[in-house]
Amino acid sequence: MQGVKDRNPHQDEFVQAVGEVAEDIYEWIQDRSDYHNAQILQRIAEPDRIISFRVVWEDDDKHLQVQRGWRVQNNNAIGPYKGGLRFSSGVNESVLKFLAFEQTFKNSLTGLPMGGGKGGSDFDPHGKSDAEIMRFCQSFMTELYRHIGPDVDVPAGDIGVGSREIGYLFGQYKRITGRWEGVLTGKEMPYGGSRMRPEATGFGAVYFLREMLAAQDEELKGKSVILSGSGNVALYAAQKLIDCEAKVLSLSDSDGTIEIEDGLTGDQLDWIQTLKFEQRGRISEAADEFDDITYHEGKQPWQMDADVAMPCATQNEIDEGAAKALTGNDIAYVVEGANMPTTADAMDVFRAKGVTVAPAKAANAGGVAVSGLEMSQNAERMHWDREKLDDLLTEIMTDIHDKCRKAGECDDGSVDYRRGANIAGFEKVADAMLAYGVM
Ligand code: GLU
Repeated sequence: MQGVKDRNPHQDEFVQAVGEVAEDIYEWIQDRSDYHNAQILQRIAEPDRIISFRVVWEDDDKHLQVQRGWRVQNNNAIGPYKGGLRFSSGVNESVLKFLAFEQTFKNSLTGLPMGGGKGGSDFDPHGKSDAEIMRFCQSFMTELYRHIGPDVDVPAGDIGVGSREIGYLFGQYKRITGRWEGVLTGKEMPYGGSRMRPEATGFGAVYFLREMLAAQDEELKGKSVILSGSGNVALYAAQKLIDCEAKVLSLSDSDGTIEIEDGLTGDQLDWIQTLKFEQRGRISEAADEFDDITYHEGKQPWQMDADVAMPCATQNEIDEGAAKALTGNDIAYVVEGANMPTTADAMDVFRAKGVTVAPAKAANAGGVAVSGLEMSQNAERMHWDREKLDDLLTEIMTDIHDKCRKAGECDDGSVDYRRGANIAGFEKVADAMLAYGVM
């Protein structure tokens, strides 16, 4: 780890992500001299390449804006690089390197042939007009197109990149190359998207939770859940939780949290989905609309009392203080819908208190899994129906759960899902790398 720290100065998120994997696989890897001799972990922790480029676009006032874009191609041992694009002012090389590293393990866990990558820009889509977003996306793709391809690297959405942005990006790729091909996932249905892709990350996280509970002879029905975030992941997780008769007590955005004391109803969720997906509104507006919803400005939901916490907003949103508040309220399960939402200190608190944590690379793998199925549908020029896709998603999440459980079993019979996910995700990539020899 000292080597990783020295080679990646000021890249805290990346060092944190690598440190977590190193800590979890250290003991297990001791008996695997082949992995050791081939320096597999050290090689996975050095991206295959990082492409960084200038993105210039003109705003509505005719001013030129200069932004930076990246694609981190971390590892393609088991399939083409695959992972989202994030547009947000907080994006930098460290954040994208950590996300590409995590994606490598996550994609491996899905069992589908996908390597790990991530990209994005420090461009913040909030408050920009449609025309500005289009010009930015076209400029971004004008450089990115030469580095991607359906068998090379297949980007998708992430924070700040939804179906609107994917449409502009895909259109520009098609215009430049003259090729209609499955080079992006998260597309809309008329041009090669997959049913169930928007729902997949949130639904998949709830399927994982359901498996985790079943393994302890518990059920989701009647459980209370505090959720953060109000993007795709949070709002579709909320939908599936309500379907399973669990109680959704909160949602949030970067300005604050809404609290729903008696649990969110399906009608309220419909209203919030329209607000967020179509009107691009703020979560506080739900409290103006419904009497039983209270808004807490500037607050996160972690002080609230519940059985399960699902952080679905962004990295490091649960710090040590939040973890102490949650364990003080006897939270039993944490399901990471966002990527690396728990700081290392917070994770120590959960481990010490015996909280069962479903790590992001397992719990939120449903999104990229259905992206993998979108690639298959594009390759065979077919659309599959919802039922088939939901069955496949359920199967994949159950399989990920079982793999993590098996690899994460502790001597006392308890399960460390984080360790299990890291070991099971690592093994497949490592075996492929071993097969290729030194490169
Ligand atoms: N951005 C999502 C993730 O973190 C999805 C990536 C994809 O579909 O390629 O897994």
